[in-house]
Amino acid sequence: MTSTPLLSQTGTTQPTPTSGVRAAVRNVPAYPFTPIDAPIKLDQNESAYDFPADLKAQAVERMMARPWNRYPDLHADTLQAAIAAYEDWDAAGVVVTPGSNVLIKLLTELAGIGQTVLTVSPTFSVYTLEAQLLGATLVQVPLNPDFSLPVEGLKAALKANPPGVLYVTQPHAPTGYADAEADVRAVVDAAEGWVVVIDEAYHQYSGTDYRGLVQEGGNRLSLRTFSKAWGLAGARLGYALASPQLTTQLQKLVSAFNVNALTQAALEVALENPEYVKHRAAEVVQERGRMLAALANHPTCTPIPSQANFFLLRTPDADAAYHHLLERGIVVRRQDRLPGLQGCLRVAVGTPAENDALIAAVGELR
Ligand SMILES: *Cc1c(COP(=O)(O)O)cnc(C)c1O
Repeated sequence: MTSTPLLSQTGTTQPTPTSGVRAAVRNVPAYPFTPIDAPIKLDQNESAYDFPADLKAQAVERMMARPWNRYPDLHADTLQAAIAAYEDWDAAGVVVTPGSNVLIKLLTELAGIGQTVLTVSPTFSVYTLEAQLLGATLVQVPLNPDFSLPVEGLKAALKANPPGVLYVTQPHAPTGYADAEADVRAVVDAAEGWVVVIDEAYHQYSGTDYRGLVQEGGNRLSLRTFSKAWGLAGARLGYALASPQLTTQLQKLVSAFNVNALTQAALEVALENPEYVKHRAAEVVQERGRMLAALANHPTCTPIPSQANFFLLRTPDADAAYHHLLERGIVVRRQDRLPGLQGCLRVAVGTPAENDALIAAVGELR
């Protein structure tokens, strides 16, 4: 031990190891996720299938060919250009980070700190977590009872609060609800003076695409990720599409060299071979329909229709249902403590065999 704490002469509180930490950080609980080992993993909305083996082999070869002693591209320019080509977007309007969760932090830094973060309730936990950590004023408007966007409520909140960042998730998480484009547009059009984020993490499963709406106004971004339909959650890459004026500001907050050379190599291979994504998304959509239909006539549980690769299952007792599924080797995510989601579990669509197991196990619930 190199130091002995000084005894307080005055009876004031002794400094602790966390005394210097901002109160906003101390007041937030650690990220509420405990990994659970189960043979059938339907709790994180991942792709049930790994990145295709032949592409993985190509990626490894490309990693081998790159010098690991050299820094990668400062802002992953080659990867940004490949994403721009894939999305038919101006490369100057693309920002990449290790997962779109990082972009959510940066967007909160860009327009939330000391300002407002506006979203709905329930919502994706990272929006509210970053707002709390970074000391933004968090405003949440409850979803309508059918989980559609509270258009009038959001418009009122946009008027009533000083600007900041507005998060709209399409399709929504954790409900899987995809709104009418007219409703999304009504909210976004009312957000003049705000930074508007349309999080499209699951758009491949809904067939929705808000690039057009983003292009119409300079203050809007689409957030996209390789973590879901691309089957690359382990590689960690997300990106924002926006106007170059806005991404120039956002890029200032991105740490230099934030996407490593190995990830860049893997993602370049993925973007040269994107065909598999469509086939897999189509299988998810078909399996989602099969699961919802198989569970539709359950005596006590109600599956909630979804446009994503997951759906909510309303049960009479979420704790009992969760543990029953776990006994059958299936892990899902509890969402029953979120406002409006009493009794709800969130179930990801897995492989057909995994989905059969889920259907059978839910069938045993009463
Ligand atoms: C899964 C998910 C993401 C993706 O996060 P990554 O950091 O890219 O893995 C983003 N937004 C929502 C709403 C999600 O559910």
